[in-house]
Amino acid sequence: MNIEKSEFLFSKALQLIPGGVNSPVRAFKSVSGTPFFVDRGEGPYLWDVDGNRYTDYVLSWGPLILGHAFPAVVSALRETLDRGTSYGAPTHVESDLAELIINAIPSIDMIRFVNSGTEATMSALRLARAYTKRYKIIKFAGCYHGHADMLLVQAGSGVATLGLPDSPGVPPASVSDTLIASYNDIHSVGTLFDRFAGQIAAVIVEPIAGNMGFIKPEPGFLQELQDICHKNDSLFILDEVMTGFRVSMGGAQILFELNPDLTCLGKVIGGGLPVGAYAGKKEIMQHVAPSGEMYQAGTLSGNPLVMTAGLATLKLLSASTMFEEISVNTRKLTDGIREIAAESNIPMQIGQAGTMFGFFFLKEPGVKITDYESAKKYADTDRYAKFFHAMLANGIYFAPSQFEAGFLSSEHSGSEISITLDAVKESMSHLN
Ligand code: PLP
Repeated sequence: MNIEKSEFLFSKALQLIPGGVNSPVRAFKSVSGTPFFVDRGEGPYLWDVDGNRYTDYVLSWGPLILGHAFPAVVSALRETLDRGTSYGAPTHVESDLAELIINAIPSIDMIRFVNSGTEATMSALRLARAYTKRYKIIKFAGCYHGHADMLLVQAGSGVATLGLPDSPGVPPASVSDTLIASYNDIHSVGTLFDRFAGQIAAVIVEPIAGNMGFIKPEPGFLQELQDICHKNDSLFILDEVMTGFRVSMGGAQILFELNPDLTCLGKVIGGGLPVGAYAGKKEIMQHVAPSGEMYQAGTLSGNPLVMTAGLATLKLLSASTMFEEISVNTRKLTDGIREIAAESNIPMQIGQAGTMFGFFFLKEPGVKITDYESAKKYADTDRYAKFFHAMLANGIYFAPSQFEAGFLSSEHSGSEISITLDAVKESMSHLN
């Protein structure tokens, strides 16, 4: 495969941008090699600057549930663009998108839009602290909630991939109120609540983890988590930046029948433009400025382009059977990979929820990955790197790290899936 132009552009970018990229995982560090530079995207495909085509299962890390350059989203954006790009004043599109999200997710009465998932979780936690008048928070090892200082502790994905236990530059004081529990281990949460009784403002969790690889909650885990929060008058915050409108129309809270106090959203709700949101019960959300005293603001928040792309995307999804179709195709893909792995005697753990999926190559058969510890212990990252490159050579782009999730779009049809499965078969034949 010729990647001459990508190599040239990467060497130039390396001189100008740290690591040549604007977000670490894009640099292919954990699988090694040179990242391809994108020329354009259309439907399920990306083309790089050397003319290679890839079926894209990364989809900008989740947002593009309608694939690249979906015509209805592009034309809605064009129409908005002609009327200006940002006003810093309210538009009706913000309320239209808010209404659609509120109608889709019963736990949400009010929502505030921001520009990224990082801002969403940061603001939700500030709100939880303001509301409860407590400062400690609990997060889970391996869950990633963006790169705010207080959350950059055992934060999975990029941090795990790069082998940084933490980030230098985070003052110890910023994380001194961040308590760490183990995902899928309710006792680790109970111990923290006992030890810090009356001090915990909130628990924040990825309801289905997608940043230490794809890990589902064990039956009852999230419900018990919700109960323990409420018993202790602490807020239960679901970080659905990745799972929102990905694992069901709405999110994981619909799948698992949860009623969180606050929800963080991002990715899909911006239709491929930069977005985040925090949302929840009116009684809590009313504490946000200017209706309340908890300050949070943003020059470009609720930007008309973002709101338009998000609204066009969610409208299409809610008015059609697209979501179910994408979910069926996602299952076809994961069932196919599972079957091929079994035939090839390659131990794997494969999971799927709605339109999101993920898999681990396991270092030994029969083990199960349920949390960050077991992910680090059992995930065979060398084998993943080989598989990743074999797939890329076959024109299939999975995430350049085993600790990331994968995604499908409405544009991935049965034929893309069967071509992908042929490539999986071929690639796995070289792994033993
Ligand atoms: N929360 C979760 C669950 C995420 O997966 C991410 C990003 O991948 C974030 C928060 C941060 O979002 P952003 O990258 O938009 O800041």
